[in-house]
Amino acid sequence: MNNIISSHREDFPLLCGTDIAYLDSAATSQKPQCVINAEREFYEQLNSNPLRGFYDLSMAATSAYESAREAVARFINAKSTKEIIFTNNATSAINLAAYSYGLSFVTRCDRIVVSIAEHHSNMLPWRMVAEKTGAELVYMRCEKDGSFSDEEIERCITRSAKLVAIGAVSNVTGARVPLERIIESAHAVGAAVMADGAQSVPHMKTDVQALDADFLVFSAHKMLAPMGVGVLYGKRELLEKMPPFLTGGEMIDSVTTDEVVYAPLPQKFEAGTVNGAGAYGLKAAVEYYEKIGIDKMEQRERYLTGYAYDRLSALPHVNIIGSSDPDNHAGILSFTVDGVHPHDVSEILNGDGVCIRAGHHCAQPLLAHLGVYSSSRASLMFYNTTDEIDRFVESVSTIRERMGYGK
Ligand code: PMP
Repeated sequence: MNNIISSHREDFPLLCGTDIAYLDSAATSQKPQCVINAEREFYEQLNSNPLRGFYDLSMAATSAYESAREAVARFINAKSTKEIIFTNNATSAINLAAYSYGLSFVTRCDRIVVSIAEHHSNMLPWRMVAEKTGAELVYMRCEKDGSFSDEEIERCITRSAKLVAIGAVSNVTGARVPLERIIESAHAVGAAVMADGAQSVPHMKTDVQALDADFLVFSAHKMLAPMGVGVLYGKRELLEKMPPFLTGGEMIDSVTTDEVVYAPLPQKFEAGTVNGAGAYGLKAAVEYYEKIGIDKMEQRERYLTGYAYDRLSALPHVNIIGSSDPDNHAGILSFTVDGVHPHDVSEILNGDGVCIRAGHHCAQPLLAHLGVYSSSRASLMFYNTTDEIDRFVESVSTIRERMGYGK
């Protein structure tokens, strides 16, 4: 554990105030006190409608909101704050791109490539685009360890490909996808890439300029920040040519009965009252990442994942889904226990104070592809400890016996 940062648990009131082992951070992360304080500060000291009023309080709310955009641009190394659109979550960010970019620029002669490993959020919006435009929809299939072979990438990303939807890290297997390789192939045939960073941005350094993704989405609530805020990063030249998705207040320059002139970026895509307090909380989360260092957090998460993988994989009747290399699990261990339904696994663990997820993880086509109906999933973040992992593994080790199987 030399050089590995501490858990920083003292920063997380919920973790300090309860006796649970929280192993469900892929669903949502816990929040440090500084984020909770920032959200509260917004309502106690800044509350007014951002981007609306010309009085001091509203202008203060506007600058708080815009400072969050600056923090996010810095966090993912975007060229400009105009490339950062705030949405409600990753799902609404992908839908924005699908309804706006997809329905405007994809035609029936085009191909949309979606990986089979996508969360439904980065699959169904593109299926909708294919249905509405008549475009061909192709699924890029991963191997059992979650990787994509060069042959499969080449089979799918052909000259007719217009859009490739791919997650950077699978929320089921935790596999790290070779995003750079896929983006390169997509760009070689002129296709745009929607990268789903919901499970990667909170856990590893993301540089959108180095990555060269056309779109990247993520959810604030999975990266220590409040629920109700998502981010759509888009290359400026693409966002400029895209029509608005939602129309209404504050996304216009002028309206007459005959004509509408839309506001410039990013307001063109932020119709209606925004989540000012949530965005301000996200800014605090970014500052927290910057203070501790995401590389150090990632290093701790790799250590914890390796520790959990080794202990869990040593149990009889437990099958870990995905790669046999713990480094290719990015904090996520999905597993089945022979003869026990994942819902029972989760319920028994709950009785022992261990919180994990069970079900299809909003990725039913992936589970079907891997030949699994449903699974249990433990997911880690730097604030977890080896003690929590021990508690989890010990609980799992007794499940079959508690379900009536012999030792
Ligand atoms: N993509 C992935 C890979 C996810 O894990 C999730 C959340 N489970 C989403 C998208 C959707 O995120 P949200 O529910 O915050 O919109």
